[in-house]
Amino acid sequence: MVLNKKKISLIFLVVIILGGFLIPENMTIPVKGARSSDWNNKSFWYEPWGKSGVHKGIDIFGKKGQELNSSCNGIVIYTGSNSLGGNIVIVLGPKWRFHYYAHLESISTTALSFISSGDLIGTVGDSGNAKGKQPHIHYSIITALPYVWRIDSASQGWKKMFYLNPDIILRD
Ligand SMILES: [Zn+2]
Repeated sequence: MVLNKKKISLIFLVVIILGGFLIPENMTIPVKGARSSDWNNKSFWYEPWGKSGVHKGIDIFGKKGQELNSSCNGIVIYTGSNSLGGNIVIVLGPKWRFHYYAHLESISTTALSFISSGDLIGTVGDSGNAKGKQPHIHYSIITALPYVWRIDSASQGWKKMFYLNPDIILRD
């Protein structure tokens, strides 16, 4: 086999993609002390759901200021805020999955930090469009590699190739 630049790049890409599956996720419930009864197991893809149309994650309820720990090993790729999510943290974890946390009271990590499952990344709050509601963390898991077989006829069902159900993943 002759290795030209194109082939080398392709092999490199495959190694990188497969490498993402070799790192263990070590999934854990991200709100300290929370159990599976602290979120509604039917809230994923619940509709109608405000501006988003459908709810592309779960809301894990807790007390304001309760510790928020990373649900998996990974690298923090974003910390900041927006009007909908309030204070948010995004972690890139194993299997090329992005873990999105919103409505934090405070953020205790910085972009480009390597973190382990269970490491403190912030606290539970009601920031963004959760203002005045019961404090909770909105948690979404988004795969960068599309799972096209997950697409169904639900509202925005095509987005199910990217948004995974955290309820199922946290129970595994
Ligand atoms: Zn939510």
